Order: sequence, then C-alpha cells, then structure tokens
Amino acid sequence: MGNYLGYNSKMLAFGMMRLPRAKGKVDLEQTKAMVDVFMERGFNYFDTAYVYGDGESERAVKAAVVDRYPREAFWLTDKLPFWDTEKPEQFNEMFEESLRRTGAGYFDIYLLHSLNEELYEKTERLGGWDFLKELKAKGRIRHMGFSFHDTPEVLDKILTEHPEAEVVQLQINYADWENPAVQSRGCYEVARKHGKPILIMEPVKGSALATLNPAMRKVFEDANPNASVASWAVRYAASLDGVMTVLSGMSNMEQMLDNTSYMTEFAPLSEDEQETIGKVVEMLNEIPVVPCTKCRYCVDSCPQKIDIPNAFEIYNELLLFEDRHRAERKYKRIEEGRPSTCIECGSCMEHCPQHIEIPEELKKVTGTLGE
Ligand code: SF4
Ligand code: SF4
Repeated sequence: MGNYLGYNSKMLAFGMMRLPRAKGKVDLEQTKAMVDVFMERGFNYFDTAYVYGDGESERAVKAAVVDRYPREAFWLTDKLPFWDTEKPEQFNEMFEESLRRTGAGYFDIYLLHSLNEELYEKTERLGGWDFLKELKAKGRIRHMGFSFHDTPEVLDKILTEHPEAEVVQLQINYADWENPAVQSRGCYEVARKHGKPILIMEPVKGSALATLNPAMRKVFEDANPNASVASWAVRYAASLDGVMTVLSGMSNMEQMLDNTSYMTEFAPLSEDEQETIGKVVEMLNEIPVVPCTKCRYCVDSCPQKIDIPNAFEIYNELLLFEDRHRAERKYKRIEEGRPSTCIECGSCMEHCPQHIEIPEELKKVTGTLGE
C-alpha cells in the first residue's frame, strides 16, 4: 500500500462495467445510490472504458458521478480500444467520444485497453503510445498505462520498450496466482521489477470467487462466519505490495455495502487468513481441470474453427466454481466453431505442448455443457 501517482491509495475502486440493470438498461437511480455510498465511505476511484456496454457505462459515469460531484473529488480511468482500429485518426475520435460521453474534461488515468502480444504490435504500428504521450503533454490525461492479458515475457517486453507507461492493470486473484493460463504471479513480479504501480482487475474472477463450491465456502465460513466469501478475494488482492487499488465490478447495492464495509478500514490479510486461502487454493488444485494454458497453438490447425482454449476455460471454471449459470451463459455465446462440431481429425494435438487429448476432452465439454 502507499501513495502512487499522487493518488492517496484507497484500496477499492468502483469498476463500472456491469452496472445494475432495470428494464433493459442501466438502472441509474440504483447506480447513483451506490456511488453515494461509495463516496460517503471515503472511496473515490471509478473505472470505465469506451467499449463497456457500447457507451452505456461512460454515460452512467456522467449521470451518477461527473454531474453530481466536483471534478477534483474523484479519479476516473478510461480506456482506448484498438482491436477494430486500423487508422490512427480513430484514436482521437474514440478519445473525444469518451470525454464527451463522460463529460469528465480529462481522465486521471488513460489506458491502452487489454494489450496482448498481437495488440501490442498493432499499437506499435499505429502509434498508440505517441498518442497517449501527446494527450498527457496537452493535459487531457494525467497518467498513462495499459491493461494487460498475456504472459510475463510479453509484459516484460512492453515495460522495457515503454518506460513511459506509469501504471499497469493486471488480472490478479488467488485462483489465478499460479494458473498457467493467466500467470498472475509472474505478471505481478514483472510489474514490480519495473517499479510500476499495479491496478488489480478481476479480484473475484468475474463472480467465481464470490460463489465457490459449498466445501470451499465452508472453509471460509468456519474461519470467519462474518466475512463474505468475496471479501477474502478482494482483501487477498489488496494485501499485495505495490498495489494502487483493486477494481471491483459492483452490480448491486448489496455488493457495494459488503465491499465498502470491510475495505473502509482495510486490514491486510493476517498469516492465519493467508493459510485459510491456501487451503481453498489446495482444494481448487485437486480438481481435475483440463491443463490448457491458452497458448492457442492448436487453434489455427482446426478445420472446424473451434476455439479450443475458450471451450476448456469455460469447462474448467464450471468444474472449479460450480457456477453453472455463468458457464452456460458463456458457452451459449460461442457462435462459430461449437465444440460439438469436432470431427476428431487430431491435427490440433500435434501442436499442443501440454499433450492434451483434445478431442476426448472436448467430448467431456459437450457432455457437460451440451451441443
Ligand atoms: S480434433 Fe477436433 S478440435 Fe482438433 S483439429 Fe480436429 S476438429 Fe478441431
Ligand atoms: S495447444 Fe493445448 S494448451 Fe495450447 S491452447 Fe491448445 S489445448 Fe490449450
């Protein structure tokens, strides 16, 4: 914990991606009430992005935060997407659109959204970093950085080549700390090596670590019957050194009241509490998941265009967290290349460094989640 980029680190940020909904749109009245609780309890960091809800999130930030509080009373982070962008002029259009939708005047932090190796190369080609530097020089953003989903090696390359990045947003939670598909620990260590403050996203892994399976929930409830299951995950993330704040995507007042109750007077996890989390991690490790690391070496060779790692990820999360509703929702979203179209040609297996019997494992996926 500490003071990073001039931000008096309060260890909970309001992620505004999955806001409460009513009648098919963002429930602004509930969002405003949540913002008020958040501010009253001493928090002031909000996170949105150009792509969240096709602008709905940014507009909700305006209505619930910007129009109701003095600009200096809060920090606002926004993000520039470029996965569908081929022209540098579009950067400025999207940035101006974000400013217009939020009415914020400037962003305290502006991030290149969701960098991985491929998107990093694209930002290099299109001049994404120069664009951010220009915005900062003009005072339109205060600080710059990126959010990230790839390996520690790629993170190291980006931070080495772009020391001007002031902050990095990483997916960190206790279930992904040693998960080979996410490598939270490796990425965290690289960011620390480069001395960058860390914004943590996905501390409860979507909602998976707020639900868990009954046996794991019991471990937490036995250790502290008054603490919510989610609180263990948020406090785990906030207890790491070098963390500027932890983003929690809050979707209703109940989550807001719970999160702010234990984060107002934040206490890092004690040794006993770390051990309790260790027990749950051991239980997670005993579940026979498909050992896919999401390297994607198999994907291009599939004549059926099956997104093999995505299918395994959904299946693994169902095994680990028993959140069937979430798994089915994600599984339904697969449009092209449904796992059930596998013709068992075996060409994917020639590329898999984990030697996974992919067609056999895909049968388990379809057997559990359907055609
Ligand atoms: S075995 Fe199935 S998943 Fe693998 S390449 Fe062939 S069709 Fe695709
Ligand atoms: S090659 Fe193997 S480990 Fe890599 S994504 Fe495909 S199934 Fe997963």
